[in-house]
Amino acid sequence: MDANKEEFSVIDHMESRRKDGEHNPLTATFELTQKCNLRCCHCYLEHRQEGSELPASRWLAFIDEVADFGAYFASFTGGEVFLRPDLLEIARCALKRGIFFQFQTNGTYIDAEMAAVIQDLQPTKVEISIYGPNGAIHDRITGIRGSFDKSMRAIELLRKRNINVILKASVMPENKNHVQAMRKLADDAGLWIMFDANIMPGVFGSEKPLTYRMNNDEYRDYMIAENWGNAPGKELQHIRDDISRPDRRVLCTAAKKRFTITAIGEIIPCPIWRQSCGSLLDQSLASIWYGEKMTEMRKLKFEDLKNCASCKTYESCTRCAGLAFLESGDYRSCPQESLRVSSLLNQLRAEKQKSSNNDSDISSPGPGHDE
Ligand code: SF4
Ligand code: SF4
Repeated sequence: MDANKEEFSVIDHMESRRKDGEHNPLTATFELTQKCNLRCCHCYLEHRQEGSELPASRWLAFIDEVADFGAYFASFTGGEVFLRPDLLEIARCALKRGIFFQFQTNGTYIDAEMAAVIQDLQPTKVEISIYGPNGAIHDRITGIRGSFDKSMRAIELLRKRNINVILKASVMPENKNHVQAMRKLADDAGLWIMFDANIMPGVFGSEKPLTYRMNNDEYRDYMIAENWGNAPGKELQHIRDDISRPDRRVLCTAAKKRFTITAIGEIIPCPIWRQSCGSLLDQSLASIWYGEKMTEMRKLKFEDLKNCASCKTYESCTRCAGLAFLESGDYRSCPQESLRVSSLLNQLRAEKQKSSNNDSDISSPGPGHDE
């Protein structure tokens, strides 16, 4: 069979499960627990438990509700999701309901036996967080000695079983000089690694994680090392799917195609945009999704955003509504961190442009060149 045809038929099948055109969500993130065995210095969850965790019976009912609503992809995350003793029961329920799913984990609880179970569950992928190319750097960031070795063991066990593993790495002053070494570690294992230099404030208001943001000089060095600043938006393509469209660049899919269920059953647009839209404990998913708050979020347009249309750094910005909400309480505002990063990138791009113009001045001077 033609490979493209097969791919299209899968997509058609997925689309046919959506019940109400573009207004129904495709993806649900299940934050099954706030507990974590690591103490990562930059973690936005602040390692605090908010209310009591919900029993498996609630999560099984949520999965039914999500499946009935037409969403067909789930992320199981935490905290550390493998701390939930009922995780496998919840994942099996998703599998039975035809929901594709992935695990987001630090990997430390995945031993040989668990790797075999995961293989049976057929997740689309397992995302594992890595913060350094060795235990000295990684463990300093996680705060737990031996965590690097355990995460690496998980990666190896899953890889041997041909499970799709993706590595995720937050970049901060503590590991900024080891990005290439982390990339090599991923390359050597035949894995893809995603770097993310966005460090978010704590969800309960702590500014401590922000002390792990790179300063301007560090961020700029990181951008140069990663070869950012060549074509507008190119280096941001992995964050947004269609950067050529203004609305796609500064508007994300939270509350449009995705939502998150927190460990206490609240519905929020995404793990960063922590604005409660209602609780699944006393409302249906449909009533929350079509309720006033989420409808308003979903209808947000480029023109509604304060300052974006006239912004000089717009070409380099991937605005985060969740960050705007965390910073100012208004998801329509300009997040100062987005402005900082897009300004740095804009400056770098201008410098590259100038130097390539100078190069072409030297290599092909002649009539018509009016720099
Ligand atoms: S920096 Fe702020 S105003 Fe400019 S495009 Fe980004 S979010 Fe909009
Ligand atoms: S609110 Fe921010 S973190 Fe959440 S999906 Fe949008 S851009 Fe991503």
